[in-house]
Amino acid sequence: MENPRTGPDFRHVQSWIFDLDNTLYRADNGIFAQIESRMTDYVTALLQLPRDQARIRQKELYRAYGTTLNGLMREHDVDAEDYLRFVHDIDLGVLGPDAELAAALAKLPGRRFVFTNGCRGHAARILDRLQMAHLFDDVWDIRTINFTPKPHGDAYASVVRAGGIEPAEAAMFEDLARNLVPARAMGMTTIWLKTDAPWGKHGPLLDVAPGDIDHETEDLAAFLNSIRI
Ligand SMILES: [Mg+2]
Repeated sequence: MENPRTGPDFRHVQSWIFDLDNTLYRADNGIFAQIESRMTDYVTALLQLPRDQARIRQKELYRAYGTTLNGLMREHDVDAEDYLRFVHDIDLGVLGPDAELAAALAKLPGRRFVFTNGCRGHAARILDRLQMAHLFDDVWDIRTINFTPKPHGDAYASVVRAGGIEPAEAAMFEDLARNLVPARAMGMTTIWLKTDAPWGKHGPLLDVAPGDIDHETEDLAAFLNSIRI
């Protein structure tokens, strides 16, 4: 298919940065719900709490520290690798190849990256199921960003360094609008994978202003097929 001559202009972009969960695959397939449930299992066992109380504690940690893991490390001295192994031990059977998105990604000129607050083992399994692993130059995970998760500014500085990225020539795609705010401040073009979730409902409160989001879409493949590259 010939590249569109109208549509959003992305001809300046040489680095394409994608969040993983709920961005490269949709939130409604239950995968992230499985991970969340494993997180609650972990907190339940660790703190010896009834499950409903463990869930409340987990959400407190998530809101205060950006990820449940970061909160568990700071307040409960949890071993990150142990936690990551446990919570990502899930059934990916519902996830299959996404040929339309893979084709749209393959057309993007330059380098492509995955930037996740999760872990690279989980990312590798997901990309394998989606048959997209070969499309990405690198996966930046929670270790790459020294366990300081998005939307903390240090996380973005770490990946820009890791990839030798020029922010003004980068585009970032995310389902959590607040995670786009630091990227936009650095000069990246930002694309929000729109969901029904209110922007500031979870996680550290960070105001999202209209100017922080350059583009929004509910369909990543269709969006990528509509841009000028
Ligand atoms: Mg996400």
